Amino acid sequence: MAEGTAKNQNTGADTQELTDGFHLIIDALKLNDVKTIYAVPGIPITDFLRMSQAEGIRVLSFRHEQNAGYAAAIAGFLTKKPGICLTVSAPGFLNGLTALAHATTNCYPMILISGSSEREVVDLQQGDYEEMDQLAVAKTMCKAAYRVLHAADIGIGIARAIRSAVSGRPGGVYLDLPAKLFGQVMNAEAGKKSLVKVIDAAPAQIPAPDAIKRALDVLKGAKRPLIILGKGAAYAQADDAIRNFVEKSGIPFLPMSMAKGLLPDTHPQCAGAARSTVLKDSDVVMMIGARLNWLLSHGKGKTWGETPKKFIQIDIEPKEMDSNVEIVAPVVGDIGSCIDAFLGAMGSKWDAPPAEWTNAVKAKREENVAKMAPRLMNNNVPMDYHGALGVLRTIIKERPDAILVNEGANTLDLARGIIDIYKPRKRLDVGTWGIMGIGMGQAIAAAVETGKPVLAVEGDSAFGFSGMEVETICRYNLPICIVIFNNDGIYRGTDVNKASADPATTVFVKGARYDKMMEAFGGVGVNATSPDDLKRAVNAAMDSGKPTLINAVLDPAAGSESGRIGNLNPQSALKKK
Ligand code: ADP
Ligand code: MG
Repeated sequence: MAEGTAKNQNTGADTQELTDGFHLIIDALKLNDVKTIYAVPGIPITDFLRMSQAEGIRVLSFRHEQNAGYAAAIAGFLTKKPGICLTVSAPGFLNGLTALAHATTNCYPMILISGSSEREVVDLQQGDYEEMDQLAVAKTMCKAAYRVLHAADIGIGIARAIRSAVSGRPGGVYLDLPAKLFGQVMNAEAGKKSLVKVIDAAPAQIPAPDAIKRALDVLKGAKRPLIILGKGAAYAQADDAIRNFVEKSGIPFLPMSMAKGLLPDTHPQCAGAARSTVLKDSDVVMMIGARLNWLLSHGKGKTWGETPKKFIQIDIEPKEMDSNVEIVAPVVGDIGSCIDAFLGAMGSKWDAPPAEWTNAVKAKREENVAKMAPRLMNNNVPMDYHGALGVLRTIIKERPDAILVNEGANTLDLARGIIDIYKPRKRLDVGTWGIMGIGMGQAIAAAVETGKPVLAVEGDSAFGFSGMEVETICRYNLPICIVIFNNDGIYRGTDVNKASADPATTVFVKGARYDKMMEAFGGVGVNATSPDDLKRAVNAAMDSGKPTLINAVLDPAAGSESGRIGNLNPQSALKKK
């Protein structure tokens, strides 16, 4: 008897084997190599999750759909396969939607699958249990959205969802599965035949030779060239080719935050510590899987200085070209194929950029690193950001395989600059939106998908968005060490409300002990008040692999409003007068 089928016993003579929607969905996912589902159970998917588990799919059951969604999204980034998030209807679906939109914005392949109520009732708005036209709602937030009404279409529906998520520019896909579909029965043989194994889901996209030549000509004419690596480059998993290309070119490179580690931050060509200088003074900028969005000041303005720029851009999405400024040499294709083409066309001899430029970048970088060094070694109590991050920086240097998850305001801005990353896809953070709440979902998926230890460095506010998932971490006994930079509030813990007895909106309970949350579920909790305490506790956690939460007590006065993006706050017209 085929997997996932049941004998129909009541028909006597013409007994046929049957299957149902539940099993067809599971079989279709398995056929396409889906190994993990991130989910929150409930009507109508509880049985589905039980059956998935029974059929050998790993199911990570979360406390809130948003966190399951963030887990699925980052699983997509790490594996180049769609991360699967499963939720119940209306409220569960809506909770998962932030993560779906986040996946789409960040170009992570993810499929949000939600159970939904019956079409007949929803469409007549007759008030079904958790009624909502989910497909219509999802459409604006993803690359593609599909609904499957008939068991015979499950195979095609899942195939389309997978292909849509990973081909071209990756992104989020919504798949709507009405409750009735799960129980629909069909002939098992026909069911099996209806399943589709997606062949070459993300086909190579080879760049045009003309485009490669045009780009190389621009690069050759450069006096002060710069390469910017974005998280698309990290996603592409063309690590060796990218490293060869950068080294062969001799051009300084600047990694965007999640591209750190493609080449080590300590690489002689890394311009991370000379960021403002290279953005201002470069004359040719080659973007590899990075966008000229707000994170790069849209390619213009003060950040980019007076020197006229020529931009070369490699991206799989043709529409990305000229999004903010003119791209003089667009190269459309997948990064692996594009870099291979560049390496081929560069030939065996390639002139390094003028030494005047590379030396200037190097000098600036060394100056900035030297300026920072003593601050990182401070042993102040209460701790400040630099003292605490100096410790974590050394720990990651000694454990370059560990994955760093990072969110917060000051905690994010400062950790991004201070903690060097040595290998690709080892830094996972808030992405394009600068979203808070990704921490625990990303930490869980990183541990599950890679089997490596995870260090999650969290602002106390950022942690609050997904903090309940510490129970999930303990339940699955994952090797995750969470460090909370506890400065008693958002940005800092010193704000005072002068208008009433209520606390200021940005402050939290003073002296809160987040470590006790971990202890509540059987994990290890540590209260760390000095850099030495912190070092000991993190090393112990990384050695033991036990779920650990360290409450790092920071000076409440440490930190600045909105971290480094305070300029994005609108100013009150009244205040200005
Ligand atoms: P960052 O925030 O690091 O600058 P973005 O997420 O803004 O990076 O940009 C990533 C870019 O990479 C997107 O424009 C996306 O289309 C592109 N991209 C993603 N995967 C690939 C790939 N395999 N090949 C080429 N481009 C890719
Ligand atoms: Mg804080």
